Order: sequence, then structure tokens, then C-alpha cells
Amino acid sequence: MEFQTKLIHGNWNGDIQTGATNVPIYYSNAFKHETAKEIENIFAGRELGYVYSRIANPTVEAFEKRITAVEGGIGALATSSGMAAIYLTLMNILRPGDEIISSSGIFGGTYTLLKNLEEYDIRVKFADKIDAGTLEREITDKTKLVFTETIGNPRLDVVDMEAVSNICKEKNVIMTVDSTLTTPYLIKPLDYGADIVIHSTSKFINGNANAVGGVIVDGGSTKYGDDKYTALKRYARRFGKSAFIARLRTEIAKDLGAIMSPMNGFLSLIAIETLGLRMQAHCDNALKVAGFLAAHAGITDVNYPLLRNSADYQTAQKYYGKGAGAVITFRLGSKENAFKFIDNLKLVSNLVNIGDSKTLVVHPASTICVHHSLAEKTQMGVYEDMVRISVGIEDCSDILEDIDQALGRL
Ligand code: PLP
Repeated sequence: MEFQTKLIHGNWNGDIQTGATNVPIYYSNAFKHETAKEIENIFAGRELGYVYSRIANPTVEAFEKRITAVEGGIGALATSSGMAAIYLTLMNILRPGDEIISSSGIFGGTYTLLKNLEEYDIRVKFADKIDAGTLEREITDKTKLVFTETIGNPRLDVVDMEAVSNICKEKNVIMTVDSTLTTPYLIKPLDYGADIVIHSTSKFINGNANAVGGVIVDGGSTKYGDDKYTALKRYARRFGKSAFIARLRTEIAKDLGAIMSPMNGFLSLIAIETLGLRMQAHCDNALKVAGFLAAHAGITDVNYPLLRNSADYQTAQKYYGKGAGAVITFRLGSKENAFKFIDNLKLVSNLVNIGDSKTLVVHPASTICVHHSLAEKTQMGVYEDMVRISVGIEDCSDILEDIDQALGRL
């Protein structure tokens, strides 16, 4: 199947019992079995089946199978949020004493989560750029994981996937990529050698901003068999390439319980069918909006990876032929101007989200990053006069008209 077909048909042939074309919403906490032996077999891993929705649920599993097909992975686990997906991934790999190398230009919530791991004796080295040079310098015997976003939110730096995955392979370090801003429509990190892909499905995958969720897709790496990954190695002996997803489901996610609800699994399944169409519309509109802003007097530092003067233009061209997503940042000279601009907007909504079909705006320094120090904000590429826009899929002329009138009234 080609990509768009997989979005609609991947791993689903309709409901065998009723012929329903949409996956039914199985709102059942537990699943009944005829004999005690049957449940015993499922618990022992001798038979497949459902027992309790914290461990597996048919609706959520249908979404997991769809995203697995679309990303080209070997398995997936859907979670209650994007943050839960990141947390569970980290818990599945790390132990006290380990080190992580992460881009500093990542989502503020993830930055805080990684920093807080220091409480558990896990050291995070934040790097301004995740590239081969940085990794050659920073990877030590203790480094278990490299964490990066495909395109950073909000610094919008573009990671050279191949270069990073080559070093991670050579040094036997797990490459974990948050692809929330790009989705599998724009890039499939597993194809470039990443080990794990994470999405906050709350954004573009859901698209309608009506279901918070996340998902972890396992690429089936052989790295887990190494002595360095003590707990995963145990699973690698039994499950081979499925070690990561097997431990994630049967230990880590089961213990924490931060799984996706059946309703959100259903909404995500409906939404993913149109992901390709929506992402292309986001990208086409975003490029036009970025060009418009760049040509406007009084605006500086318009940042969109596919603008010619973007720092990562070359890398963006290499990986993002179809477009570089919906997020744009720019600076207006003062916090006062940034606030006035936001308040002047009529069509565009002022809220903390991205990836909605609606165009959204936010002032990151006073919201998502308000609890970060000035030094951290600078490192993350967040400034007092900076505005972030997530360009929606409305008619672009309407978006431009609203932005133009809001700028005109500054
Ligand atoms: N990753 C990225 C890149 C994000 O932008 C966000 C949220 O904005 C998250 C992860 C966290 O996702 P969630 O809000 O679904 O927990």
C-alpha cells in the first residue's frame, strides 16, 4: 500500500462481526473468558487476547496497528498524552547513572521533564545542535539515549537524521525522535535509522484538537541485546527485535497506566485518515505565511525551515521536500508589540497548542516557557518579543488578511 492508502486501510479490513467500516469503540474495562485456563494463557504470553484495557484494548490497538503500518515500525503503544509517551520511553531505557544527550530547542514541557530526571541521578546534556560533531564529543560510556525532535518546537532547527543515526549506531546509543511537528506524512524517522519515534497525537495526527494523546512506535532495533541495556537485554533474549515494545507494554506502561482511552483511540483513527491532505495544506499555507511575514517591515527573525535564509535551509530541503510543517516564529521588537499583535487577531486563536486545523498563535515566553530561566529560554530559542504561529488549513487569503490587519494596527 502507498502512504495515503495505509492511512485509511493500514491493518484494518472492517469489523468481521458487523461489517462496520469504522473501528468500534470498545468501552469495556475488562474482557470475559470462558475458562480460567484461557486467562492464564494470555497472562503467561502463550496466547493473544484481551484481559484488561490498561494492558490492551481493541480500539486503541487498531490505532496502534495503523500508526505502526504508516511509520514502518514493528509495534506501537498509544498513551494518554505526548508527555506520557516521552516519559514511558525514557523509563523503558534509562537507569540511575545514565546520561542523555538532548537538543535544547525542544518543547518546553519535554525540556523540564528531562531536566527533572537529574533527581533520579540521570544526567541530561542539552546541546544547541544535535549533529555528528556534538555527538562525537559528548557521547560517553554512560550515554544511553539521544533525544531530539525532527523539527524543534519552537526553535525550528532541523535535525540531519542520517548523520545522527549513523553515530548512534556506531556508539550503540538509542536514537529517540519526537516527530510531532512533522508526522509520518513529512518524514518517517525509522527509514533514516532512528530507533524510536514518538508523537504527541494531540497535535497534527488528531488535527481537530479534541483528543489529547501520544504514541510510541518501535523500529525493532537490535541495540537492546547489548549488555549496556540491562533490563531490555532480558527481553531481547525472549522477544528478539520486539524487546522494547514487549517491555514497554508488559512492564512500564502496565505499571504507570498512562494509556490512551478507547474514545481517543477512535478519534485518532478517524483523524489519521486525512493526515496527508491536512499536512500538505498546513505546509502550503505555512510557506505562504512565512514568505508574507519575511517581506513585512517591522518583523525580524522570521523562522521557517524552508525560508531561504533559515539556518537549516539545506537540511530542510534534503528531508522536507513536501513542506516543513505548520509552525513559524518571528519577533516584533518588544513584548508589548507581541501582545498587541496577538490581541489584534480576529480569526487566529490565542491558545497553547499546535497542529489544529485552525490557525493558532501564542506568546511562548509568557506561557509554555514561563517557568524557564532567561538563560534556558535563550537556549530554547524563546524571546520576550517572539510570537509562534501554527498555521491552519483555512483559506490562506483569510489567514493573511487577519495577520495583515493585526500588524497594521500595531
Ligand atoms: N512534543 C512536542 C513537540 C510538543 O509540541 C508537545 C506539546 O505541545 C508534546 C510533545 C507534549 O504533548 P502532549 O501535550 O500531548 O502531552
